[in-house]
Amino acid sequence: MATSERLTIGIDIGGTNLRAAVVDPTGRIIDVEQLPTPSSVGALDTAIGHVVAALRTRHEVVAVGLAVAAFITADQTSVRFAPHLPWRDIEIRDRMTRVLGLPVVLEHDANAAAWGEQILGPGREADTWAFFAVGTGIGGALVTDRKLYRGEFGTAPEFGHLTVVQGGRTCPCGKRGCLERYCSGSALELTAREFIATGRHPRSALAEHYHSAPEGITGRTVVRLARDGDPLALKVIEDFACWMGRGLAVVQEILDPGLIVVGGGVSRDADLFLDHAVAEMAENVVGAGHRPLARVETGVLGADAGMIGVALLAGTANP
Ligand SMILES: [Zn+2]
Repeated sequence: MATSERLTIGIDIGGTNLRAAVVDPTGRIIDVEQLPTPSSVGALDTAIGHVVAALRTRHEVVAVGLAVAAFITADQTSVRFAPHLPWRDIEIRDRMTRVLGLPVVLEHDANAAAWGEQILGPGREADTWAFFAVGTGIGGALVTDRKLYRGEFGTAPEFGHLTVVQGGRTCPCGKRGCLERYCSGSALELTAREFIATGRHPRSALAEHYHSAPEGITGRTVVRLARDGDPLALKVIEDFACWMGRGLAVVQEILDPGLIVVGGGVSRDADLFLDHAVAEMAENVVGAGHRPLARVETGVLGADAGMIGVALLAGTANP
């Protein structure tokens, strides 16, 4: 078993996968485990216990951080609601501390990822900045004076479920027309299917792919074909960038940050959409052309930001 400086485990519990990493105090990932995210409370507890046990057979760790795509209480003990997970009004921190036999820190996944970018990414250069993470959905966070801003009730900020289309696409959160149904990895797939259904660009490789294997169309397919220059895939990316720009404009209008960091799994393909999104943001703020706007940069940690950030937070909370 490896013993060394104080290692912690960061677990990012997302809608699709549960990813766990052993992280050192500098934020370096030492080891990883991954499982699909189960859909029941019992199976989710078991999966967390399983990845922690697996990593502890190989490393001595002092604490565990859970980064969860959920509304958590301001005291960071419980999950109120998680659009993509089975947890509803459930105490997590103390229960998992007992189950795992290690101190547990519970954190919103976007807050955790923002903390990773604060310590290791563009956030190092800013005191007050906003995080806009795009993966399966959208995660938002705000850092003010180098601290995570939690709002009065622990749920702020939440950019992904702003209603942008009245009566629009259904969202797993129970509402319709949420921003992340138009601007996320899963939205790429939804937009592609809509465009194909309306018969636009019938000669595209994306449409042909869909007609031969409808289930094979994912956000990754769209990105890959866009890189090949497929006209329909490029149109889908353009639509995504428009929605992102409008989302960034809302962030700018409400928070007036000096920096917005675009993170999450989709950010690795930022070269395909970010310039367009920034231009769209500039066009959609009031007083456009007469006010300074946030610098928009991509995060450096990608989809690992939440795991790394919550592992660092667990280390800080349990020195
Ligand atoms: Zn929603």
